[in-house]
Formats: sequence, C-alpha cells, structure tokens
Amino acid sequence: RIMTLKSVNPATGEAWKIFDEWTPEQTLEAVDAAAGAYASWKETSFARRAECLVSLAGVLKARADEFAGLMAGEMGKPLAFGRAEVLKCAAACEFYAEKGEAMLASEPVSGCGERAYVDFAPLGVVLAVMPWNFPFWQALRVAAPTLMAGNTMVLKHASNVPQCALAIEDAFRESAFPDDVFRTLLIGARQVESVLDHPSVIGVSLTGSEGAGRKVAAAAGARLKKSVMELGGSDPFVVLEDADIAHAAKVGASSRCVNAGQTCIAAKRFIVRDEVYDDFLAALDREMGELKVGDPTADGTIVGPMASTALRAELHDQVGRCVAAGGRILRGGELPEGPGAFYPPTIIADAPFEAEVCREELFGPAALVFRAKDDDEAIRMANDTPFGLGGSVWTGDKDRGLALARRIETGVAVVNGLVRSDPNMPFGGIKNSGFGRELSSFGIREFVNIKSVIVD
Ligand code: NDP
Repeated sequence: RIMTLKSVNPATGEAWKIFDEWTPEQTLEAVDAAAGAYASWKETSFARRAECLVSLAGVLKARADEFAGLMAGEMGKPLAFGRAEVLKCAAACEFYAEKGEAMLASEPVSGCGERAYVDFAPLGVVLAVMPWNFPFWQALRVAAPTLMAGNTMVLKHASNVPQCALAIEDAFRESAFPDDVFRTLLIGARQVESVLDHPSVIGVSLTGSEGAGRKVAAAAGARLKKSVMELGGSDPFVVLEDADIAHAAKVGASSRCVNAGQTCIAAKRFIVRDEVYDDFLAALDREMGELKVGDPTADGTIVGPMASTALRAELHDQVGRCVAAGGRILRGGELPEGPGAFYPPTIIADAPFEAEVCREELFGPAALVFRAKDDDEAIRMANDTPFGLGGSVWTGDKDRGLALARRIETGVAVVNGLVRSDPNMPFGGIKNSGFGRELSSFGIREFVNIKSVIVD
C-alpha cells in the first residue's frame, strides 16, 4: 500500500503538494549513503566541520524568506515567525561551529595510569524523527551538534511537512557539507523501525508526542540503541502576588498563543495567587484579545491557523471536556466559520485541577487558569502533572522566584521570562516529557562515545 505525504495549506484546507512515500529500497539506499559518508566525515577535522556549519548558516540566512513561505504553507506559521526560526537555526549552526570543538576536546584526567584521557568520539548515523511545529528549528538544533561531533544524520520529518524536509536537505546540498552527511527520508512512521535496524544507525532523537516517544524509545531499546526523547509538556506559569501583572500577562498570552499554541514549552497552566487572580485574569484576557489571528502570509499576523483540522478537533474536544468538568470560558472556545484550521485564543478559568483533561497537554491556543492560595500550593500544583518540560515563576522578588523555580520539577525553569530554548543552555524534560538533553555541551555529548583512554 502506497502512503502519501501531503502538504495541505492549513489556512485554506487546500492540498498543495503530494509525495509518494519512499519504498523500503529507496530508504535503505539513503541510509546506506549516510553510513558511507560517515567513514570520511568522522575523520574530517573540527575546523572543516565548522566551516561546513558556517556555510550552511549562510544558506539558511539567504533563503530565510523562501523557507518561511514553506512553513506558512505547510503548517500555518506566520511569515515573520518563520523567518525568525530560520535565523535561529543559522545561529545554532554558528554556535556549534564556534564552540563545538572545545566541548568535545579530549579531557586529561589524573589519578589513573601514567596518563589518562576522556575522549568524545563519533558513533555513526543518527536518526532524527521530528515534528511539524518548528519544522526547521527542531531538525537543525539536532543536526548542528550531531554533525559537529562527526556523526552523520538521516531525518524522518513529520508527514505533513515534506516540502520543509526536502528544503532542509537542499540547504545542506547547497552548502559546503559533503554529500550524504545529512539526508532526508520521505517516509511515514511505519518505516522508522527498519531504519533503526540498520547496523550503522546508532541512535535516534525524537521530538513529538508522548505516544510517538513511547513507541520509538521502545523500538530503540529493543535494538540496544540510544534515544533522546523531547516530548510534550504542560508548563506551569506561576504568578505570585508581587508580580508585574501587566508584563506577566503579556508574555503569558504570547507564550500560550504564538505558533497557534503548538509549542511544547508554551505556558499551558496558569497558576495564580489568590490575591491577584482577578487582576491577572483580566490582564490575560486583554492581552489575548490583542493577538491578531489570521492569514499566516499577511503582515502583522501573530496567530495563524493550527497545523490541521484534525489537531484543531482534538483541541476543541479538550476544551469541551474542560467545560463539562466545570471550567468557565472567558474568551474563545468556539470553532470559527469558514475554511482552514483556525482556533481563537481561548481562556478557561476555574476548571477543576483534578479533572483528567487538565492533566493532558493542550496543543493549541487555549489557556487553563487555576487559583492557588499560597506559594506551597502553587508549587504543588505546578508539579502535579505527568509532564516536566518547562515552567516559569513571576514575582517582584527575584530571590524568592529563584527559590521557587528550583522547586519546579522540570528540565527548564525561568523567573520572570519566557521559557525558551537557547543554545547556551541544555534543553529537555523529565517525567513523561522525555529524557536526554539537546543544545549546549550536554546536547553535543548525547551521541558520542565517551571513551576512557589510559596509558599505563
Ligand atoms: P507525533 O508525535 O505523532 O509526530 C512527531 C513525529 O513522530 C513525526 O515525524 C511522526 O511521523 C513520528 N511518529 C509518530 N508516531 C510514530 C511511531 N509510532 N513510530 C515512529 N515515528 C512516529 O505528533 P502529531 O503530529 O501526531 O501531534 C499530536 C500531538 O503530539 C500534539 O497534539 C501534541 O500534543 C504532541 N506534539 C508535541 C510536540 C512537541 O514539541 N512537544 C511536537 C508535535 C506534537 P508521522 O508524521 O509520519 O506520523
């Protein structure tokens, strides 16, 4: 049975381009090619690898508008955000070009033998299984460190962004990278296991849903191959009574709604101290009302359509279950008329914290707002979730904020700011948000052989 990978414009519902899934033979040929490229790439100097990354950064910058257009057309991201995403990818390439060699420098160790070193050696081909929400960033933030470390990579992108997937490969082809160091595979989820079977594929990095993570981590485990899992989140956004409410509401609305709310580290559960609950809710409502929803190719659009009507239906069902459980809709919550997968910025207040739906990830522009009587209750609520990706605390007292941020059980915690990924800092989650880290020196060491070399 032939499967297809479809670009469907989520703003209009129109099919844009359709690709046949590759046959297993085509897939094998591409993975073999990446395995072949590894033989010389692993021997290539850091200096040369860095030049290749800088050259790729140049191609990304030069084609940022074109790539933003592909994202708008395939998954609905407004053009300005798409452009910023491509530039962030270029910056990550430059970051690892500049810093990667030092992060992987052999470390001399005393106290073992006459001389001893910890080396960080490449391992082979890494499979990246990536989602559609940040089609360029998700792929490049894995590729830059992995390739700088001397591995090669094959990318299985989400089935709804095949043109982005091909464009990323094309950018590599146009850059100074040797052929086949990075290959895109036009395959559906069903071929992932056979790619993992390939003897040269040493591990997999997946970003996506918890369900996909469980399956692919299990498949990797069965083959004794390493995996890094960056899965969903339900980030708490904790507002204390001494916070700058206007600023917190502005950042909170934007965190919840940009990318049409389809961000793993979006603020999803707003946990607000009693004293400022009403003020914050009113401010959040105002800020959400300011966000311009519409055509992702139009100037000034902040919130485009969701990536598909299926994803929208899932979100709308969750909103309905919040209301059925006792939640109060302050704004949004209704399916708009007309074509496309648009969903209005939505606020649901006072849903019972214990309701099943409140423990799920809401992957769209719908905010849940809860009340907390004191700091301890706020932290307890922040941590009472199956997820552990990001979280933030908002307060006028930075030391108090820092102490509370340290109590939030997540991979990333921010005081008075947007939860974000930054190449300087490790990124990843705990609990059902996954394991392993991306970015920084921790990310580049995920797919290397940490090797003890001893001279007696
Ligand atoms: P998925 O997690 O299903 O897709 C992510 C990637 O995993 C895609 O490349 C997908 O391929 C692949 N994949 C899915 N299932 C398998 C499998 N069994 N074996 C191998 N590969 C697999 O995301 P969806 O698009 O279905 O989104 C659903 C939900 O996932 C969202 O509502 C959200 O909650 C969460 N999500 C979270 C993201 C995050 O950044 N944390 C990103 C995207 C989604 P294919 O497209 O071919 O199925």
